[in-house]
Amino acid sequence: MRVKLDPLFEYRHCPNCGQNDFIVLFNSNMKQDDFQEGIESVYMLPGDKYGRHVKCRNCHLIYVNPIEKGSKINEDYSQRKSVDASIIRESRLRATKSQVELIKRYKKGTNLLDIGCGEAFFLFNASKAGYVAKGIELSQDAAAYAKSEFGLDVETKPLEELQLPENHFDVVTLWVVLEHVPHPLTILKEVHRILKPGGLLAVSTPNIGSVLAKTLGKRWWEIRRVHINQFTTKSLMDILKNAEFKNVSSACYKESISLLYLFIPILKYLKLYEKVKTSLLPDSVLGRIMNKIMLLYPSKLNYSAVIAFK
Ligand SMILES: [Zn+2]
Repeated sequence: MRVKLDPLFEYRHCPNCGQNDFIVLFNSNMKQDDFQEGIESVYMLPGDKYGRHVKCRNCHLIYVNPIEKGSKINEDYSQRKSVDASIIRESRLRATKSQVELIKRYKKGTNLLDIGCGEAFFLFNASKAGYVAKGIELSQDAAAYAKSEFGLDVETKPLEELQLPENHFDVVTLWVVLEHVPHPLTILKEVHRILKPGGLLAVSTPNIGSVLAKTLGKRWWEIRRVHINQFTTKSLMDILKNAEFKNVSSACYKESISLLYLFIPILKYLKLYEKVKTSLLPDSVLGRIMNKIMLLYPSKLNYSAVIAFK
């Protein structure tokens, strides 16, 4: 007997302008079996799997079409494991301090919501800086880490299901989130609704218009299965304006990466990681040293950061 399977894919109109007129930039390299595997770990591996990338002829947004079904994407994120939190902890705590400094420059209000907060390193720094910080994170595992390590208030439902009060938040942040979601404009409109008039939105995404992206092409590590929208600084600013945000401008903060976090993906790529894994654990002597050594770089090297107001 043939069992009728749910279709795996969902075709999308342009997530910014809603039109259905695009050119194909490159095709997917995923095979049927790849979809059985869960989504990625935290590591960036060049030459990974990716979907078909298209470019809207009307607004020039680059997006993946078709995508895996939205319900499946949410379920995958809900089950995502954050077993590597100790490896990224030092560098994320450092980088997110710079993100807090960025928003403090623009807005001193207290109520802050971070959507897609992950293990909540940013949220922890924001609460230390005096914000009443709340987070949303689909990954049950990451949210549990945020609660147990930092005692933070983190919801695990999608934003649209939470029905948060209107005109409530002084600041909403979306750090590297919009490239993952099937309907970024819907999320931005909901963020607009829950922000107070004059409230601040800070957004970052990988920048497909960056020199790095242009040089590396399909081998740029941000071209991967889970990134289904690819913004340039301009297309990111455009979608914010489309969601009625005002005074939209680009910004920059200091990103950081520890030597350990930088080395592990390289070793994995060279298939050497399994051999040296134990000496590189974050609580090993070498692991601890390498985790303390940080490389700082301006976010605009790889990301677009944009701030805007309601
Ligand atoms: Zn478009």
